[in-house]
Amino acid sequence: MEYRVAFLSLHGCPVARLGEKDTGGMNVYLKETAKQLGKLGIKVDVFTRVHDPNDEEVIQLGINARVIHLKAGESTYRKEDLYQAGPEFVENVLRFQKHENTEYNLIHSHYWLSSYPGITLSKLWSVPLVSTFHTLAKLKLKAKAEEKESRRRITTETEAILQSDGIVVSTDSEISDIKELYFKSDKTFKHSKIKVITPGVNLEIFRPGNRSEAKKKLKLSTRKMVLYAGRVEPLKGIDIAISAVAMLEINEEVDLIVVGGDSTSADIVAELKELASSLGISERVKFVGSISQSELGDFYRAADVLIFPSYYESFGLVALEAMASGTPVVASRVGGLTKLLKNGETGYLVPFRCAESFTEKLEVILSNPALQDAISYSARRDAIGYGWADLARKLAGFYTSLSDQYSLVSDSAVEIV
Ligand code: UDP
Repeated sequence: MEYRVAFLSLHGCPVARLGEKDTGGMNVYLKETAKQLGKLGIKVDVFTRVHDPNDEEVIQLGINARVIHLKAGESTYRKEDLYQAGPEFVENVLRFQKHENTEYNLIHSHYWLSSYPGITLSKLWSVPLVSTFHTLAKLKLKAKAEEKESRRRITTETEAILQSDGIVVSTDSEISDIKELYFKSDKTFKHSKIKVITPGVNLEIFRPGNRSEAKKKLKLSTRKMVLYAGRVEPLKGIDIAISAVAMLEINEEVDLIVVGGDSTSADIVAELKELASSLGISERVKFVGSISQSELGDFYRAADVLIFPSYYESFGLVALEAMASGTPVVASRVGGLTKLLKNGETGYLVPFRCAESFTEKLEVILSNPALQDAISYSARRDAIGYGWADLARKLAGFYTSLSDQYSLVSDSAVEIV
């Protein structure tokens, strides 16, 4: 029997350019998950809003997996205003579904902006709702007090956690976070509906290679290289990376390459450049902008070490990609990173916000080639255990168990009537 899932991702499109202000791990997650579920024979339609007027309405992602671009809100909407586009998004999903005359067995909504569309459609279609939040407002606020999050987002997340039949998180620390931050005093909340399913990494793109050859290919200097990759936003702590590199005793022999960001991150980049200049290392801090994953693979291979100084990461795909490429990682001891890295064996975990701790571990790696090689080997060995296909198998099992429970409940409801 055909099994069809509607992914709802109002603001995150699997085919959008990565590394810009609002595109990163979630977009990768959607693309890889949809493709792998498709290979298992589950039909997946990823509904998302039109973000580029040149995009076709329907794009085939892989076997059984499609992206459906639908109009939802004005193109000028900022991300925080996008919730207003929810009703139009729902209307257009319904129009598309009626036009194709298809039925979906389950809805999987991604990020809080898709929560109300998910709740509405699951009621209309009488199908189970699964939610993945990717990040939660209260977690961001806990990690960095200066962050601003709307009350609307918190209320929506709380409602979606309650209304969802299943919730998928990336690590078990997220279960305790949800419990602690959202349902501390609610004894009736069912934690059993939360399922931990670990994300994966593309081991073909992210593979080890020769460091000097990668540097040559990218036309980078032969100096040692510390890499940061990801979205350019305050929560990522790029300022800490700059301060940490500036404090290295050997800082004159080291470049810090920052991958990610676009024109909308210009203000943050300007501040970071100012910081680098005030610390006297502006010549050696380079901002590359956002690049494709395959080019990013070359940057990981060229780097001596990846620095990942985030205030919070629910998982941290960049760290896993660096590990898969055999690049030692020095990361904040936060969220998913604490599950991913074995401190001292596959990388280092240090107190977040503490530039001195990052400097110390960068120095240890940069001045010890044998240790660097040992970490590189163990990191790749561990990364091999994280596959997107594995995630899809677990997700498929979760979907079918929820569908079974759901039909049992609806059947008994019919009998009682
Ligand atoms: N990425 C990319 N090009 C860039 C910067 C980042 O392809 O210029 C990708 C990177 O490979 C990773 C994702 O963006 O898969 C970032 O994911 P992560 O979980 O580290 O951060 P998030 O965006 O979820 O905060």
